[in-house]
This record gives sequence, structure tokens and C-alpha cells, in this order.
Amino acid sequence: MIKTDLMIIGAGPAGCSAAIYAVRSGVKTMIAGGAMPGGQLLQTNDLENYPGFENPVGGFELMTAMHKQCKRLGVEILTDKIVKIEGEKTPFILTAESGEQYESMAVIIAAGASARWLGVSGEEKLKGHGVSACATCDGFFFRGKEVVVVGGGNTAFEDALFLSQFCPKVTLVHRREGFRADAVTVEKVKNTPNISMMLNCVIDEVIGQEKVTAAILRNVKTQEKTTLSCDGIFVAVGAVPQTDWLKESAVKLTENGLVQVDAHQQTNVSGIFAAGDCTEPEFRQAIVAAGSGAKAGISAASFINLHR
Ligand code: NAP
Repeated sequence: MIKTDLMIIGAGPAGCSAAIYAVRSGVKTMIAGGAMPGGQLLQTNDLENYPGFENPVGGFELMTAMHKQCKRLGVEILTDKIVKIEGEKTPFILTAESGEQYESMAVIIAAGASARWLGVSGEEKLKGHGVSACATCDGFFFRGKEVVVVGGGNTAFEDALFLSQFCPKVTLVHRREGFRADAVTVEKVKNTPNISMMLNCVIDEVIGQEKVTAAILRNVKTQEKTTLSCDGIFVAVGAVPQTDWLKESAVKLTENGLVQVDAHQQTNVSGIFAAGDCTEPEFRQAIVAAGSGAKAGISAASFINLHR
């Protein structure tokens, strides 16, 4: 059993920010970040709205800098994943995927969120064969091909812009006429000649045997169906909190699966805190995650120093 003061679960902006604040309060801090520490930002091309960078900064670059900052301050980043939290009061016992166990005085859950899928026929079968939830990761394979992006948020619009640089035809399919994406990005998409939009439309079925060949679209107003030939479908319809693994624990989740926290990022269990996208119903932004992580780090450090 490895002992620590604070175990942070998740190495995205929330986890890193929490670690920076905690370690600087004299708390022995570990982050369990999984096999690829860094969270959703690793799959983000450019951020133009993270303060401190005159020019857009790459998500991977930003996370690498955060990890280096954590390590310089003395935080240990593990490439293991915590799969179980036991205990209703300090200290807590954590079990990792590797089988390793940790005893920690306090815990911060910053496990983030993962892609939501459409759940339509053909999608599951063709994942990795034309269906993807990560344009940054898989876009390269679609060079010179025709692709569809589904969604009306910033991710969908940014994915469409990214893909339009090397795909001759990008069709953005969205279920209504209004967008969640910010006005600047919407304008950029509208001004990109090889991106077209099919609004009030949903995908009913993904077609293809070995790989995607088309999508069956349905206009939600007229119910009219059309077949759109394409080689790839990028699903960008939001995210779901990565909290399923907490269902057996004492930590309370909301009906949407978010970890319930108070203004100090404290969960219902004294000594277990949470931050970032796994707690956030609305403002899923890197800067918001970093801010809530800072609060969790400060709160956890106070808790630990009070219980020594
Ligand atoms: P989002 O803002 O929640 O948008 C999800 C989109 O998918 C919505 O347009 C939604 O439609 C649609 N949708 C949801 N379920 C669907 C379904 N079953 N079928 C069809 N469409 C469906 O998610 P996101 O774009 O991933 O963004 C998440 C957060 O990250 C946001 O806060 C966003 O601003 C932020 N973000 C920021 C940046 C940046 O600043 N650089 C980049 C990417 C993401 P409705 O609109 O009709 O609900």
C-alpha cells in the first residue's frame, strides 16, 4: 500500500491546477492520469480563449506545459488509472487498474468527460472504420475524402474547420438551426467554401460494410430521408462525465452522472473533492476546469493540514 496525502484522479487542467495549489501548500501530491495523462485537451487543436497566450496554443502543448509545471513543483504523475475509491472518511483506499493500492488522506476527482455517441444503427460496428469522435486524432486518415461532422457546438464547428483544410467536402449536420458554438467560429465555418451545413437534420443510420460509405439523414421537420455519401463521420455531440466507476462508492452523483460538489468543491464525503468537467453541467471550458481545480486544491490542502 502506497501512502500519500492527496491523490488527484485525472491529469487534465482541473487535476493539474489542483495539484499545483496543493503541492505548494506542503501536501504530498500524486496525480493518477491513466495511460495517456491529459484529458480532452490532448484532442484539441488550437485554443484561442485560454488566457496568457497571444497566439492560439495547441491543446497537447498546453497540457505538456501543465505536466512539466506539476513535476517541477514535486507532483508525481502516475500513468495508472484509479478504478475504485473505498471509505467514507479519511484515509481513503484507492485501487488502480494495475492492482496497486493507495492510502490517501484526501482525494480530488477530476476525471473529466468522454465523447457522447449517437447510438444509431451502424455506428458501433463502424467505429474506427470511418466513425470517429476525434477529428484531431483521426482526421489525417481522411485526407482527400468527403466527411460529415455531427453537432452544433464548438467541437463540431472546430472539427469542421480542421477537416476542411484537407478534405474537399465537409458537411456539418445539426439537429436544429441554432448553434451552441461561439459566433466567431460559426462565422469562420460559414466563410469556408468547402463546408456546407444540413440543419434540422439527424443521422438515422450509418451505412457501410467494411467502412463507412454513407449516412442516412432525416430532416426532423419534414421527416424526409436522404442518403449522403461520405467516407467518414465525426461525431461531436458533447460529452458524458467519466463517473460510472464511482457508482459503487459513497460519492453522490447527480441524475446526469456529474459529481455533486459545494462551493468549496467538496463532495458529500468529507475529504473527497471534485473539479472540472466531471462536475460541470454547463461551462465545460479548460479555464473553468482549471479554476475549479484550483479551488479543490486549496480546499483539499486545508482539509489535510487540519487532519494531520
Ligand atoms: P456541446 O456544446 O454540448 O454541443 C453538443 C452539440 O451536439 C449540441 O449542438 C447539441 O445539439 C448536439 N447534440 C447533442 N446530442 C445530440 C444527439 N444525440 N444527436 C444530435 N446532436 C446532438 O459540446 P461540445 O461542442 O463538445 O463542447 C463542449 C464544451 O467545450 C462547450 O462548453 C464548448 O464551448 C467547449 N469547447 C470549447 C472549445 C474552444 O473554446 N476552443 C472547443 C471545443 C469545445 P443542441 O444544440 O440542439 O443541444
